[in-house]
Amino acid sequence: MSKSINYKSLRTIALTLLIALVLIINQYGTTQDKETSTTPLPSGIIEVHFIDAGQGDSILIETKDSAMLIDTGENQKGIDVVNYLQSQNIKKLDYLIGTHPYSDHIGGLDEVLDSLPVDQVLLPEITNKTATSQEVLDTLAKKNLTITIPEAGSQYNIGDATFTILAPGKAYDDMNDNSLVIKLNFGNNSFLFTGDAEQQSEKDILAKSSDLSADVLQIAHHGSVTSTSQEFLDAVAPAYAVICVGADNDYGHPNEEILQRIKGRSIKLYRTDTQGTIVFTSNGKNISVDTKDYEITDADLID
Ligand SMILES: [Zn+2]
Repeated sequence: MSKSINYKSLRTIALTLLIALVLIINQYGTTQDKETSTTPLPSGIIEVHFIDAGQGDSILIETKDSAMLIDTGENQKGIDVVNYLQSQNIKKLDYLIGTHPYSDHIGGLDEVLDSLPVDQVLLPEITNKTATSQEVLDTLAKKNLTITIPEAGSQYNIGDATFTILAPGKAYDDMNDNSLVIKLNFGNNSFLFTGDAEQQSEKDILAKSSDLSADVLQIAHHGSVTSTSQEFLDAVAPAYAVICVGADNDYGHPNEEILQRIKGRSIKLYRTDTQGTIVFTSNGKNISVDTKDYEITDADLID
């Protein structure tokens, strides 16, 4: 009798232990699943250089072993951009992007193509040929390079980063609205590059994109009043904004209203005309800026 009770007790203990073991394994498994489902931080860092190209754009993006360049400044600035790439020890570009065929964006593209190897050239469809765009097309033909015309929504990899083409989703009569608009993601950080896209393109981007938020926004069209609508700025809600603009330019860029709009949202503003080249560094979690801090003062708002 006592023997059978002992067996029963042993069975109960064994069963309890088994249940405990199953519970522990389950718990462990759940924890593991949780860990693998969070996005791992990318390795290394990414640098985004807003190169001082006077009244024009040129932005270098560098990861551990890849590089891309968005725009190349005016014709006469091409050599400065090439020198800058050399100073950064860039030997090859994975992507060379011209946002749209105006000379303050693709003027130096032929110099860049002549100075180092390029894997892929991205441009919007060129319907309205300018002398500068013809030079670029001739250089591309000489180099046996074809143009990739990216569709809105297409995504590319550069090292551990990805970039997505947000616009143009269609052809516009206004050349500026045909600018390639690009969102770059690296871990939890993101950057939005806008070329000279104006409010019509912004409106179409807003209608299509579910998440426009970015840590760093390049203020489109050198701070022109025809871009950076209130709605667009609110949707991007950047912590930092950058205006690529030349000192004393003929266009009155950046526009005072746009400066006020940025100031009103407590966004930290950087400008190439007053600060030269501005470099952002991200580890996928935090962003640092390599230039002195610059707040808009009233002096910036007076013509
Ligand atoms: Zn421009």
